[in-house]
Amino acid sequence: MSELTRERARDGRRIVVVGAGMAGVQAAVALREQGFTGDVTLIGAEAHQPYDRPPLSKAVLLGKAETSAFEVDFAALGIELRLGREATGLRPGDHELDTDAGAVPYDVLVVATGAEPLRLPGERDTPGVHLLRTLDDAERLRPVLARQHDVVVVGAGWIGAEFATAAREAGCSVTVVEAADRPLAGALPAEVAAPMAAWYEDSGAVLRTGARVERVEDGAVVLDDGSRVPAGAVVVGIGARPATGWLAGSGVALGAHGEIVADDHLRTSVPDVYAVGDCASFPSGRYEERLLVHHWDNALQGPRTVAANIVGDVPAAYDPVPYFWSEQFGRFVQYVGHHAPADTTVWRGDPAGAAWTVCWLREGRLVALLAVGRPRDLAQGRKLIESCVPMDPALLADPARPLKKATAAAGD
Ligand SMILES: Cc1cc2nc3c(=O)[nH]c(=O)nc-3n(C[C@H](O)[C@H](O)[C@H](O)COP(=O)(O)OP(=O)(O)OC[C@H]3O[C@@H](n4cnc5c(N)ncnc54)[C@H](O)[C@@H]3O)c2cc1C
Repeated sequence: MSELTRERARDGRRIVVVGAGMAGVQAAVALREQGFTGDVTLIGAEAHQPYDRPPLSKAVLLGKAETSAFEVDFAALGIELRLGREATGLRPGDHELDTDAGAVPYDVLVVATGAEPLRLPGERDTPGVHLLRTLDDAERLRPVLARQHDVVVVGAGWIGAEFATAAREAGCSVTVVEAADRPLAGALPAEVAAPMAAWYEDSGAVLRTGARVERVEDGAVVLDDGSRVPAGAVVVGIGARPATGWLAGSGVALGAHGEIVADDHLRTSVPDVYAVGDCASFPSGRYEERLLVHHWDNALQGPRTVAANIVGDVPAAYDPVPYFWSEQFGRFVQYVGHHAPADTTVWRGDPAGAAWTVCWLREGRLVALLAVGRPRDLAQGRKLIESCVPMDPALLADPARPLKKATAAAGD
């Protein structure tokens, strides 16, 4: 008997992870890191070796990197990979996952099926209309950039901005049409997003706000005011929704956006089934509201809690300070925490400049910040958010003062 076989004999449970993106891979790896010795099977719908998504709108899109495959030796970790295999249903009473290649029994199931991009109403597989979620999408878009088409990007969100950045770098002429009156309308308040509109123009892209797409025709996008925007290619970046349609009828509770409603231990409403990553929301004790986070760091941190709850004796709660970054128009944009409309905004620096930060305070304590080109603010801010230290707003507003020296105690 090999050492691995002997080890694994100690825990007879069979764990199945469905969805082989960041959250699924991290769940499988974390189980091994935390000493789980039973069977781990990782099932993923895509045929590619599991890969990371952020490079798809950056280096992979521009051909600066061929792949973003995770550097994980699944065989050495004793993780069985079943790729190109789609989950089609779940029968919790039988402890079985249905897939397009038959049923898979489990003792514990981790659902990490991520999110799928929203499409324009009525649009499906129209030639020249692209999404940007998968490696296949990025590979289809590379020649579009290389041919330097006129590109219309629908949606000025995170993906739209990153794609527009890459397309301008590749020499395409770019028009971004956005139904709201500003970029990132769903994510940031008007005063914070307003300076970002100028980034599009500075890069040579045209940003048309208040512009709703009526339909896509051959060679053009038609807006609801009747105007036609010439388009050699169209890229749709209007958001994503949890990929949970396959759970219909399973008894797993879903929320208004189709997200799995997990508890603070990332358990679903069904016994022995956990959910993590873009597909699931969780109750944040820290922010006292349920969060549905579609960012990479959540798909890294959440699986560690899931693994701890599967392996350990003491239940572990998931209560992260959310974090994400975006690289757009030559800027490094980072956000940490979570803010609400009623929070107080404090600016550090001039938003017309190259580097600035916005902080959000609640009852004098930092709850979130957005840093543009100021990674040190981000690093210090994260610690201040975690420790709930009271801040001095006047000191905070001085961009020359390190954030960690803007606490109320520093002002005394
Ligand atoms: C182009 C792009 C750029 C991004 N850039 C950034 C960034 O700069 N910063 C940042 O913080 N975040 C970024 N993100 C977000 C980040 O990548 C996601 O939050 C993260 O990938 C979520 O991981 P996940 O494993 O939960 O979901 P996913 O990455 O979506 O993985 C889920 C996997 O499950 C598979 N699956 C779905 N349904 C089934 C089924 N029924 N059966 C089997 N398998 C199934 C899917 O094929 C997929 O491979 C970016 C996302 C994209 C698309």
